[in-house]
Amino acid sequence: MAPLRKILVIGGGPAGSVTATLLAREGLDVHLLEREHFPRYHIGESLTPSTRTVLDLLGLSGRLDAGGFQIKRGGVFRWGSDEWVVDWSKLFGPQVCSWQVDRAAFDQLLLENAEASGVTVDQGVAARNVVFDSGRPVSVTCTRDRGEPFVIDDFDFLVDASGRSGLLSTRHLGNRRPHPLFRNVAIWGYWANAGQLPLTPEGGINVISSPDGWYWIIPLADGRTSVGLVSPKDVFARHRSRHSSPEELYHALIGRSAAVGDLLREAEFRPAVRVETDYSYTADAFSGPGHMLVGDAACFLDPLLSTGVHLAMYSGLTAAASIAANARGEVTGQEALGFFEYTYRRAYTRLLALVSSMYDDYDTKEDFFWTAERLVHGDHGAGRSGAAPFGEIIAGLSDLREATVSSTRVLTERLTDEAFRVQRRAMAGGTGRPDLAPLRESPLDDNEWRGWQLVTEPRLGLARSEGDGK
Ligand SMILES: Cc1cc2nc3c(=O)[nH]c(=O)nc-3n(C[C@H](O)[C@H](O)[C@H](O)COP(=O)(O)OP(=O)(O)OC[C@H]3O[C@@H](n4cnc5c(N)ncnc54)[C@H](O)[C@@H]3O)c2cc1C
Repeated sequence: MAPLRKILVIGGGPAGSVTATLLAREGLDVHLLEREHFPRYHIGESLTPSTRTVLDLLGLSGRLDAGGFQIKRGGVFRWGSDEWVVDWSKLFGPQVCSWQVDRAAFDQLLLENAEASGVTVDQGVAARNVVFDSGRPVSVTCTRDRGEPFVIDDFDFLVDASGRSGLLSTRHLGNRRPHPLFRNVAIWGYWANAGQLPLTPEGGINVISSPDGWYWIIPLADGRTSVGLVSPKDVFARHRSRHSSPEELYHALIGRSAAVGDLLREAEFRPAVRVETDYSYTADAFSGPGHMLVGDAACFLDPLLSTGVHLAMYSGLTAAASIAANARGEVTGQEALGFFEYTYRRAYTRLLALVSSMYDDYDTKEDFFWTAERLVHGDHGAGRSGAAPFGEIIAGLSDLREATVSSTRVLTERLTDEAFRVQRRAMAGGTGRPDLAPLRESPLDDNEWRGWQLVTEPRLGLARSEGDGK
């Protein structure tokens, strides 16, 4: 990489805001483009405790705790014939908790904080086209509020945080691959006075499976509850054809679950209904010369375990640490790209494996817990840890631990094999085939990257690990 001074970030969601803020605080000159004007609506309301660590770094956790956001201590999963509770505060200590957030307010807080940290934030500016020279982005054509195009070319490094629209991977690199197991559609709306399953930890999410897919029930601080259904696209299409409007369809689908119906018995619907395809995908590469893809721009996973914002903020953190370390000359460009790619793809792969196992009709709670234990402890797992490894993974804490202590007890090859195996099993009898080619064809080299670790003190960056990486 050439000496880095000016960073251009496309997208002002959690991934873009985190990356931009942390880089500006490290003294880099950061310009962020966001095509919307905030506040703007966004789905993705249920957060993991790992986001608290990143928000601490941004100086924002206190603001979230102080009011306006619902504290979340875990959730209840009513899945097939099983039911289990994950209470992070009981498993890991009272300070381990997160929030359920109105994303319009949350994302605005993050973006304003970016601006207050020195980022030049341009709202209403959409990046339309990126020009590459020798594989490296050198200029971006933009429009402001759909006006005349103009070009930005005064940057040394480009961070694509454009979310599911994925500017670089869909329009320029052509390297996004859908996962055949998760071709789903989500439909959701908001209710006042909704109930929660018994034993739900404070502010917890309820996840309830059904023959049509699975439901989320997420309580928000203003008394509304977000209630949605995720179902395979063919199931959704079958129901869709029988109803004249999304609202009618939504109420019909909600009515098909006795458990959800019970929770909404006293509740009052607050229009409107929203629908979004939420196919999962990964880009073949999350980085390349002069660029990185963070958050949903790189990969997206079915929202079953509510980990999208975790992946967005975690990848923003590791991207910023890698870029800042490179800008200071502490690591080479190749090392910076490698650490980012390694940590982000590992995090995604582990979650992919766990979500895939829950899509396997024949697996039970014990299987999910056992899968989780193998994904956290590898061969050291004894199969007796109960909900703790599952709770740790869905809290995002395994990823943070690995990045900060350079401890990779599970080889990436094992994670990839596990993700492949559970997808294949979950799809048995179906028509699709698992496609993990990006994970298998360009395997991450543990020996090369294990040994680097993310550090936040005295400055955000990367450091050689003291340990043996085991
Ligand atoms: C149905 C559903 C339910 C979900 N539930 C959860 C949940 O409960 N918990 C959870 O953690 N996650 C959830 N997610 C996932 C979560 O929404 C995302 O993972 C998260 O928002 C990703 O953050 P991001 O910053 O990468 O992208 P985004 O939040 O999408 O931000 C991208 C930003 O880039 C801007 N942008 C896009 N293109 C351009 C461009 N060309 N130029 C300039 N700006 C651009 C957009 O306007 C947007 O503001 C859910 C997702 C779906 C689909």
